[in-house]
Amino acid sequence: MTQGVEQSKAWFERAAAATPGGVNSPVRAFNSVGGTPRFMVRGEGPHLWDVDGNRYIDLVSSWGPMILGHAHPAVVSAAREAASSGLSFGTPTTGEVELAEEIIARVEPVQRVRLVNSGTEATMSAIRLARGFTERAKIIKFAGCYHGHVDALLAQAGSGVATLGLPTSPGVTGAQAADTIVLPYNDIEAVRQAFSENPGAIAAIITEAAAGNMGAVAPGPDFNAQLLELAHANGALLIMDEVMTGFRVSSAGWFGLERVRGDLYTFGKVMSGGLPAAAFGGRADVMAKLAPGGPVYQAGTLSGNPVAVASGLAALRAADAEVYRALDANSQQLGALFTEALTEAGVAHTVAYAGNLLSVFFREQPVRDYHDATNAETWRFPPFFHALLERGVYGPPSAFECWFVNAAMDDATFEQIENALPFAARAAAAAQVPA
Ligand code: PLP
Repeated sequence: MTQGVEQSKAWFERAAAATPGGVNSPVRAFNSVGGTPRFMVRGEGPHLWDVDGNRYIDLVSSWGPMILGHAHPAVVSAAREAASSGLSFGTPTTGEVELAEEIIARVEPVQRVRLVNSGTEATMSAIRLARGFTERAKIIKFAGCYHGHVDALLAQAGSGVATLGLPTSPGVTGAQAADTIVLPYNDIEAVRQAFSENPGAIAAIITEAAAGNMGAVAPGPDFNAQLLELAHANGALLIMDEVMTGFRVSSAGWFGLERVRGDLYTFGKVMSGGLPAAAFGGRADVMAKLAPGGPVYQAGTLSGNPVAVASGLAALRAADAEVYRALDANSQQLGALFTEALTEAGVAHTVAYAGNLLSVFFREQPVRDYHDATNAETWRFPPFFHALLERGVYGPPSAFECWFVNAAMDDATFEQIENALPFAARAAAAAQVPA
């Protein structure tokens, strides 16, 4: 059992006086589960330690990036070495080229890459580029998919937007959202209809290669292939958002599992090794429209930062076949433990996978889209989460997020999770529908 959280509590109060809600990204505030967010001070392998000295098995992995576990020696030493040579130059550097080449070598449809600082920047830039390339304005996105906090993409978004139950965000003007067509995920007929209702107007479809921001919702068997076909038949581009799936679900991301060739791709998380770096890339003819060669402007003071690039390269190079085998096995093992404990406690649930992304939905029927995800018994989640947390298992503080395993998990980690889960499952079983 964890030993108290007084220090975290005190820091959270102090944080709230300095930062809105006390956090720098909403889901960290524990709003949908209640309780005190833990202030972490150290990570190593599969563990995190909070400011009160409690140790946790980390099943968030910084929301995806840390596939190797925390403070992996190769990544830390690459970042340390790069930092000792200077933190930022604002010039081209050799590491940027190597990281771009590494991405191109892994994801075949990606012929050119531009580095940015966050997944949000990557999707924002990819959309601008798609609009510039096609000279069209409208974008199709899917409800429950999250592509970062880009104005045009916040409508019915997943992740923290779903956690807070927001339809979209104040501050996004009607004009910014007007060109966004939001459709149900996995509904190809809705996409067909949108194209026929908006002839010559749709620049691109943007989709998570597999949805991970309403929980894990895999695309149906032909969904991505049909998106590509419909996009091309109508002169539009397909943007595959692989910020979450990229280099996590396989060495080539979702493309490694399903060979649908998107026109543009976005990456972040794993390719950064844990520092701020992200990328977008794709067809050479489309990417050629970017400044300075082309007219679509896109830039960044810290883009391709040498320390972030060194960390990302080291992480990708350390992620060998054994790491991907471990991620897949750990995801399956965690899912099996969830199922065993929840079944034993008589809680209706589905453990859903998209590659090695995984989540638990408190409903028996499969989840195909955002409507299904939000119609689960999400009120069972907070007690489930807290029973695990108290026993040193740090899961995502939201019913709409994936659980992110890492390759550093070992038998002892799984034993602790297995021992904690029956308490969590019984807490979920005892949960009451909120009044
Ligand atoms: N796209 C997807 C699929 C994501 O999951 C996220 C973040 O979770 C983003 C884009 C935005 O990335 P960032 O948080 O780095 O801006």
